[in-house]
Amino acid sequence: MRLHVGLDDTDSANGGCTTYIAARLVDRLLGVDAHFTDYPNIIRLNPNIPYKTRGNAAVALRLEIPDEMYDSVRHIILDEIEREGRIGDENADPAAVFLKGNPPRSVREIARRALCEVVPVADAIRIIIASRAEAVSYGSRLGLVGALAAVGHTLNEDHTFELVAYRRRENCGSRRGVDEESVKRMNLITYPGTFNNYDQRNRRVLITPHGPDPVLLGIRGESPQVVREAFQMLTMREPIERWVVFRTNHATEAHFEAAKGNQVGLNIPVIVSGKVDDLPQRTIGGHAFFHIQTKQGRFTCAAYEPTGGLRDTIMHLIPDDQVTVFGGTPGRHGLTINLEKLEVLSLAKYIILRNPQCPRCGKGLKSAGKEKGFKCQRCALVFRKQQKTRVIRARKLMPGLYLPDLKAHRHLTKPLNRYDQERIWDGKPPLEKWHSP
Ligand SMILES: [Zn+2]
Repeated sequence: MRLHVGLDDTDSANGGCTTYIAARLVDRLLGVDAHFTDYPNIIRLNPNIPYKTRGNAAVALRLEIPDEMYDSVRHIILDEIEREGRIGDENADPAAVFLKGNPPRSVREIARRALCEVVPVADAIRIIIASRAEAVSYGSRLGLVGALAAVGHTLNEDHTFELVAYRRRENCGSRRGVDEESVKRMNLITYPGTFNNYDQRNRRVLITPHGPDPVLLGIRGESPQVVREAFQMLTMREPIERWVVFRTNHATEAHFEAAKGNQVGLNIPVIVSGKVDDLPQRTIGGHAFFHIQTKQGRFTCAAYEPTGGLRDTIMHLIPDDQVTVFGGTPGRHGLTINLEKLEVLSLAKYIILRNPQCPRCGKGLKSAGKEKGFKCQRCALVFRKQQKTRVIRARKLMPGLYLPDLKAHRHLTKPLNRYDQERIWDGKPPLEKWHSP
């Protein structure tokens, strides 16, 4: 039988990681001759959900097993969650969903919604019952939404790959032993086949996370082959416990794809077009803000300090520029749109009004008072009929697409090198080597 297994919410701030459980399950399930019909999937869901600690990731395992193996497979998976799932930690509400056969339309639809809405748990439970799936949750039932969404999001369209390598338990919490020079070299050789390895502008390694979790590094790329080659180019200063190649919706903008046509609301991805309504402001903390007037109303748009160069772009906007903003409304400041991407559609003319020049000596005139014309101090003359002159300034901005610095990219942010690289999945099971021996 075909079996789709969704896992969610096994991480907490104290470490643990849903993908690590998946990686351990790869070994255990291959050990009982379960057949993987796909790479394990990492599905990033709506990044604006308020109660999520980290990247809102869920995992799906897609298997072909003999019917009589169902109970033992289910037992292995639940056993692994109970061992590694941080049950009892705050914000960790592990859940698993088991679906026999391929996901029906209702499950695929809830997967789409989970990318761009806050899906109520009750909706997930209703679909689980209707589709005769089996669900297990520990703690609150919040994890059921992500687990079901992972089952339904089969990544048939655009997708990328990530090789994730894990640390030995005794090293978790210490500085990650990945040689920075080797990351730069690997990036030079494999980019754009791999991406988001290194932020040149901020001189920062991006493949290693910083928390206490067991992830040593993750290399993102366009194919399983290229992420594996890139991995072999790295110099390590600590042993690797295991590694797995995942298929993911990272860097695909799946959340904006799903949110197309949505109204602006709280805790969701937002795409909205309109006119810049005021001159952008920069705060002492380095954040940049402007307002946009749209058919749906007037909204504050924010580019926070970590977005780096995106703030400079914003500071060059002027009123009446036409833009499309892509962002999210995590709700910490009401309906403020936190920018993830900016498209400048067209630029307004930048006109400034200048005092006229003295017709006699050519020096700039000064105002002689409200509606009293202009005076020349050198010639000691007043010119009552002179008007201000309109000067068109050059713009320091071009129409086009603008993204934050690499270090500020969300998991779903599509880097510029991925435009026109989108691909359809061929549905074939993984053939080449995709996990550690
Ligand atoms: Zn003069």
